[in-house]
Amino acid sequence: MAQKYRITLLPGDGIGPEIIAVAVDVLKVVGQKFDIQFEFQEALIGGSAIDATGEPLPKDSLEICRNSDAVLLAAIGGYKWDSLPSHLRPEAGLLGLRSQLGLFANLRPATILPQLIDASSLKREVVEGVDILVVRELTGGIYFGQPKGIFTTETGEKRGVNTMAYTESEIDRIGRVAFEASRKRNRKLCSVDKANVLEVSQLWRSHITQLAQEYPDVELTHMYVDNAAMQLLRAPKQFDTIVTGNLFGDILSDAAAMLTGSIGMLPSASLGSSNPGVFEPVHGSAPDIAGQDKANPLAQVLSAAMMLRYGLNQSAAADYVEKGVLQVLQRGARTGDIISPGMNLLGCRAMGAALIQVLEEE
Ligand code: NAD
Repeated sequence: MAQKYRITLLPGDGIGPEIIAVAVDVLKVVGQKFDIQFEFQEALIGGSAIDATGEPLPKDSLEICRNSDAVLLAAIGGYKWDSLPSHLRPEAGLLGLRSQLGLFANLRPATILPQLIDASSLKREVVEGVDILVVRELTGGIYFGQPKGIFTTETGEKRGVNTMAYTESEIDRIGRVAFEASRKRNRKLCSVDKANVLEVSQLWRSHITQLAQEYPDVELTHMYVDNAAMQLLRAPKQFDTIVTGNLFGDILSDAAAMLTGSIGMLPSASLGSSNPGVFEPVHGSAPDIAGQDKANPLAQVLSAAMMLRYGLNQSAAADYVEKGVLQVLQRGARTGDIISPGMNLLGCRAMGAALIQVLEEE
């Protein structure tokens, strides 16, 4: 009997509707090939939700997300809503969704596709073969720790304060996501911290080390964050899966992603313990090219592949989609953001059609 999944689609704003349409077409092909039945339900978020309901994350949308197996999000935001107060801006919808679904783990792969190697700003021999997954803690650490704020001291001077704090249970749950994710890859996990200076990192390191006993098949190493930043640029191929806290992860995941050089190709996943995960491209709503059939839909398609792998445990289907993306690039298909001489310039829809053709031939 076919496996059934309820998928919430959040097209959002800008290029969102154009790129999510391609991902849905891809999932329909996946459904046929792997005997999976996807039931899609669309909901509003971001600027389009503000226009329709006055709120960036309407209650109905949140309920639909909660009642699904996974959420596929495109992107939110645009010039039109930039002057609204911050709690009514499109971004508030995204932050609200992440916090309401308790998404504490953010997974960002940085994979160099051989066909796009020249898009990287680093030398070919440094980046060729890079395939890294950064697992970042998303709801704790210095962005949320108390006390925080700008206070006035007894001498009348202002003092800004943030607190980096992690409890054992917070370290435990992100650690488990990272060990499990590394099992779906090459079983090598590097935990990044600043344990030479920070007590919070000392607890992090000792707890991750303790957790490793439950994952004897995964090789665990530790690295200080300053060294990790250096090593990512010097010899990125030494990394497979990286796990780290919120602040370090914020910085390192951007650095790792840029090894690949192309924003239209980068997917991400945000996972919680029991609620559905949210799968979305790293890029924004690209209002400058919205509605012009110029967007690269591949980050959205690769986000759907992450949904299959990490949200629905359908690794073979995820492999199939990722291979299809490689194959369509191999045949020379390129959108404007990744075009190079001699390649075939396609719009968003035509790239989708070329990918579907490849997948159907597989
Ligand atoms: P952006 O990622 O939308 O665009 C940056 C540049 O990359 C633009 O030139 C754009 O045309 C290009 N680009 C992005 N995605 C592309 C794609 N798939 N194909 C081809 N080109 C692509 O970032 P920005 O311009 O800083 O932000 C635009 C809006 O998106 C803002 O309102 C911002 O708040 C929002 N935003 C949303 C998210 C999200 O939904 N997660 C993330 C970042 C920015």
